[in-house]
Amino acid sequence: LATALVPLGVAGAALWAQAEGIGLLQQFALPSWLTVLIAWLLLDAAIYGQHRLMHRFGWLWRWHRVHHTDTELDASSALRFHPGELLLSVAYKMAVVVLLGAPPLAVLLFEALLAFAALFNHANWALRPKADRWLRHLLVTPDMHRVHHSTVRDETDSNFGNVLSVWDRLFRSYRDAPRDGQLAMRIGQDEDREPQAQRLRALLMQPLRRDARM
Ligand SMILES: [Zn+2]
Repeated sequence: LATALVPLGVAGAALWAQAEGIGLLQQFALPSWLTVLIAWLLLDAAIYGQHRLMHRFGWLWRWHRVHHTDTELDASSALRFHPGELLLSVAYKMAVVVLLGAPPLAVLLFEALLAFAALFNHANWALRPKADRWLRHLLVTPDMHRVHHSTVRDETDSNFGNVLSVWDRLFRSYRDAPRDGQLAMRIGQDEDREPQAQRLRALLMQPLRRDARM
C-alpha cells in the first residue's frame, strides 16, 4: 500500500508546483519534451543521491537496512522496504519535485520506470555476459545491483544507481563485480541471517536497533 501511495504523493507535488508555477524548470521556456527529459534525468540523479545518504548516516541506514536484510535476492526484494523509509522517501521526492518544478508527466514516467527498474535489477536473473556488459553502459543490470546487496561493507556501499548506471560511474561508486563472484557472494546482513530476524515484526522493529557499522 505504501509503495502504491508514494507515486501519488510525488505526482501531487508536481501538480501543485505546476499550478503555482514554481521550481527551477518552470522558469525556462524549454520545449515540453526537453523539460520532461531533463526532469527525468535529474530525478534519477536525486534518487541516486538519496540512496547514498541512506548508507552514509546511521539513523537513515537503520531504516534502509531492512531492504538489505534479504538473504536471497529476487524481484520481491524490490518491494521489501520499511514503511518508515518509504515515508522519508516520499518527503524527499516531493521536495525535489517542487524544487525542480518537474512536470507531472515526467514524474509519472519516472515513477513507472523506477518501479519497473527495481523489479528488473533485483531479479534473480543471469543475463548473458555480453548482454549484461552492453546494457550496463546505460542501465543498472541485475549483476550490477547484486554487488550492492553483498554482506561486504565496501561492496554494499557501491552501485547505488536505480535506472541509469551513469551516476555510479560519474560519482565513483561503481564496482564491476563482487570479490567472491556472483555465485559465491554472500547476500544480506551478517547479523540478520536467522529466520527470526526475517519475521515481519523483527523487520518492522529493526530501525530501533543499532548495528556494527554505526
Ligand atoms: Zn542500499
